[in-house]
Amino acid sequence: MGTRSEASETVRALRCGGNEYIQLPIDQEECQLRLDRHLQAAQLVRSLKADKDSLHQQIWSYNNILREHEEREVSLAEENQMLQRMAFVDGLTQVANRRRFNQQIPQLWQQSYHSGQPMSLLLCDIDYFKRYNDHYGHLGGDGCLQAVASAMVRGAHRHSDQVARYGGEEFAILLPATDLKGAQQVALCVQSEIAIAQNPHLASLFKVHVSLSIGLCTLLPETLQQSYEVLIHGADEAMYTAKLRGRDRVVINGPDGLISIVQNQCLVPDNSAGDAA
Ligand code: GH3
Ligand code: MG
Ligand code: MG
Repeated sequence: MGTRSEASETVRALRCGGNEYIQLPIDQEECQLRLDRHLQAAQLVRSLKADKDSLHQQIWSYNNILREHEEREVSLAEENQMLQRMAFVDGLTQVANRRRFNQQIPQLWQQSYHSGQPMSLLLCDIDYFKRYNDHYGHLGGDGCLQAVASAMVRGAHRHSDQVARYGGEEFAILLPATDLKGAQQVALCVQSEIAIAQNPHLASLFKVHVSLSIGLCTLLPETLQQSYEVLIHGADEAMYTAKLRGRDRVVINGPDGLISIVQNQCLVPDNSAGDAA
């Protein structure tokens, strides 16, 4: 507090950090007005501080929500991946399922038409599998399916080769950009993997180990409109013929008709259709 004649004192006091400097004699109204202003300012500071606190609180909870959202997104992406896998992978054998096969074959067939490279299909059926189940039980049968699927995966080397479970005890191998000679090699490779595995099949009518009958067909699509079904039909016919000719063999449905190859790789003449069924 100072007198009005000491105006420079006011400046000095404010410069020193004082909030207010009242000069004497005190004007009551002025004093009241200044006091009110200070009270309002203090109120403003308090409410700003409260706003700041609530803003911090909001930022904190928004950050939490954001983090939760990000975590949920990651787990959703993982779940999606898993669902995608479940939708296209056979749960028992872990190879592609029939749905995946059905999705892939038209795409690969179309690619084959555009690239001008033939594609091949192997249809493989476990011999006397019903007898296997009857003898070893369904759990044993499941184990056999897993062993056969692994042998097939080992036999088909290229990254583009697609092993799929086609039906109960039938498997398919799609071989893009593979001619008849290459497909024959894969078929024999699968046969030898099956032979090396030596999975016992004491209920088989002609062997003591699990064996496969394989039908092979190789085609180059002639037109864009031609259906891939002709390839499936060709491989199916060959597989059926492999059963009729005695099982445990590869039958090729090629330009020279249906030719059988048994495991020791000797060509069996086409007219040997009289083998035991
Ligand atoms: P073939 O040599 O003529 O092929 O004789 P097969 O007994 O293998 O053929 P068939 O088609 O008569 O029987 C297939 C059997 O496969 C019927 C069923 O017992 C069995 N099977 C099919 N799907 C499954 C499966 O998912 N799990 C098990 N454990 N068995 C299956
Ligand atoms: Mg079958
Ligand atoms: Mg069978």
